[in-house]
Amino acid sequence: MDNPVPKKADLVSPFLFRIEWKDGDVSEIKARDLRLSCPCAGCVDEGTGKPLLDPTAVREDIILLGSELVGRYALSFVWSDGHKTGIFAWPRLKALGELGSGA
Ligand SMILES: [Zn+2]
Repeated sequence: MDNPVPKKADLVSPFLFRIEWKDGDVSEIKARDLRLSCPCAGCVDEGTGKPLLDPTAVREDIILLGSELVGRYALSFVWSDGHKTGIFAWPRLKALGELGSGA
């Protein structure tokens, strides 16, 4: 698939992040699902791709404190557990949104 282009990306609530795509799709991703999918070197082994993050260590009530654009290609998030090193490229966010919608 082509690189997805976001039209609008913002927090709906501290628990939910919403992205409207240029192609008309909408992705809504839960704060905790985002946290569990964090691709940073602290959460995923860069060499093997093996997850280092223990999902049981992430609280059910974790929330998003904010998000920030990383250039034109990605977003980074700040969670209530203090984590903020993950950089989520748009295709990754689009894929996460599609998982979440159950489509
Ligand atoms: Zn991480």
